[in-house]
Order: sequence, then structure tokens, then C-alpha cells
Amino acid sequence: MTDAPRLRITEIFYSLQGEAATVGYPTVFVRLTGCPLRCDYCDTTYAFTGGTWMTLEEILERAACYRTRYVTVTGGEPLAQKHCLDLLARLCDRGYHVSLETSGALDVSVVDARVIKVVDLKTPGSGEVERNRYENLDHLLAHDQVKFVICDRADYEWSLEKLRQFELDQRCEVLFSPSYGQQDATELAGWVLADQLPVRMQVQLHKYLWGDAPGH
Ligand code: SF4
Repeated sequence: MTDAPRLRITEIFYSLQGEAATVGYPTVFVRLTGCPLRCDYCDTTYAFTGGTWMTLEEILERAACYRTRYVTVTGGEPLAQKHCLDLLARLCDRGYHVSLETSGALDVSVVDARVIKVVDLKTPGSGEVERNRYENLDHLLAHDQVKFVICDRADYEWSLEKLRQFELDQRCEVLFSPSYGQQDATELAGWVLADQLPVRMQVQLHKYLWGDAPGH
């Protein structure tokens, strides 16, 4: 037995970043097990349970197997495991460009400032809109991103209202992403242009390349 900090890991894999600022870059993904939310469109339900306990050192060793400086820590909800914060800091110490994908339901103020936080604001269509922790918006840095996954026109209008209410584009980059298989991407692009929004429209590259297959 070891007392070294450990994390429950669903998978560590190498793929192309499918979204956000570093889309298209070869990236190591560290997917932590567990999530307290249950979004209707969740595509990683296999990460809710199971997983393998790994020490931080073992995770760092696995990441080092790949020739990339980009690492994304994701889930599940990675912040639900307390040692996630240590992992993020250790990755930054090693010189990686580190991003964190988080639901926006847990406190992000404690995340190392070197980490690029990609923070969801859950829309009504997710079924988890009540979980948004709006205090998080005060802890966004200019290099961070706020992401809306939009399921329908009502979600779009809700997102627009939040964009204006919190002046999100003044804080960091704002991503509008169509819910895969639910909201037509071309239609969403049309709305963004018609309203001349200061947001970045994105589609999930990995879904177009590999569909919903795990490990991408
Ligand atoms: S927060 Fe992410 S991992 Fe958790 S249920 Fe929602 S989409 Fe799935």
C-alpha cells in the first residue's frame, strides 16, 4: 500500500483536441472517473463509475509516453476528486499546456492559475441548469473559456441572455457548441451570425472524425 495521492481514472488516451482553443492539436486526455451531474446529452456516462486508482506519478508517466505538450484533464467532473488540483499543478510544473474541462458546478477558484479552465454554463436543455455555480464566473481569467452546449432555440436564447447579463465576452472567450445529434450546427451558426454575437461557434471535431466512440 502507498500513501501517495491517487486519482480514479477512467482512461488516459492520445487524440486530437476536439474543441475549445487548442482544437486540432494532438493532446493527451486524462479522464477522471465520477460526476455528480446527469446531463441529458452526456456522452461519457461510462466515466460515472469504475475506473482504476493511479498515483499522480503513474499518471505523469503515462502522459510522458506521448510527444505532445498539450494535456487535457476531463471527466466526468474532474474537480469532484480532491487530488485533481494536485495533478493539474504537477502537469503545469512539468511545462505542459494544461486545460481543464469542468461542468461549472464545482468551485474553480482553487484551480492553479496556469491552467486553462473550460467552464460549462449548463443550459436548461441539459437538465442540470440548477447546478450552475455562478460565483465561478468571477474567477475566470482572460485565458479561460466559458462553454454553452446548446440543445435547441430555447437554449440559444437562454445562453444569449447569460452572455449579456454577465458580460461574459468581456471576461474571456465564449464558446457556443451545438449538442451533437440534437441541435443542427448550420442552424446555430446562422443564429450566431444573425445576432452578430461576440462568441466563437464550434463543432466537436472528434465527433465528426470518430462519432461517439470512447477513447477519442
Ligand atoms: S457534467 Fe459532463 S460528465 Fe457530468 S453528466 Fe454532464 S456532460 Fe456528463
